[in-house]
Amino acid sequence: MPRGSAGAKRMVRRQLASRDITDARVLATMASVPRERFVPPHLHRHAYDDGPLAIGHGQTISQPYVVALMTQAAHVDRHARVLEIGTGSGYQTAILSKLASHVWTIERVHELTEHAQLTLRDLDLHNVTFIEGDGAQGCPTAAPFNAIIVAAAAPHPPPSLLGQLATGGRLVIPVGDRDLQILTVYHRTESGISQKTAGTCRFVPLVSRDAFPE
Ligand code: SAH
Repeated sequence: MPRGSAGAKRMVRRQLASRDITDARVLATMASVPRERFVPPHLHRHAYDDGPLAIGHGQTISQPYVVALMTQAAHVDRHARVLEIGTGSGYQTAILSKLASHVWTIERVHELTEHAQLTLRDLDLHNVTFIEGDGAQGCPTAAPFNAIIVAAAAPHPPPSLLGQLATGGRLVIPVGDRDLQILTVYHRTESGISQKTAGTCRFVPLVSRDAFPE
């Protein structure tokens, strides 16, 4: 069995299923994506560790559990149009691309977009549109989305992202200050937007004039 899949299966069992990840599609997908392909070579032996890892440019690949938690909270079905803010390594992008119909992913660091694009192409994942820029603006030309996942922290959800949610859609975003955030799910229904929380987390900041007004 290839190293990646054995490691990924063990990660799913020990870090996800043993906690509160119950969505069978999310568990199966996380077991099928080789996480070592998304981390720098010198960190390969840590690829399935229970924590985030540095991927360069001051950024991190999120802890597997946090990727699973956000993905589960977003309720991504196979018809879903998904927007991801903060491509980073592309690991969560790969998970979402396997679960959804199409993924639009926005990253502000050119080198990360370029690298993630190559990694997904190598893994034969093609239903992804890579965009460079400020994700706080969302992607109006492809909206509305059934799920929007923001992998960077903001003091409040950017209004343009809430505006690009389809009815029935969910926005998952870490809301808080630089040191501690609450993973928050905004659900757009016929009657408005409801809100619930899914635990605490710690993400790098969403770098945007919109999300952090001076
Ligand atoms: N899910 C990713 C996590 C990436 S970390 C992974 O597992 O690899 C968050 C990413 O958000 C960083 O790459 C950072 O550059 C990016 N980011 C921060 N602010 C942004 C913004 N306004 N628009 C787009 N990307 C942003």
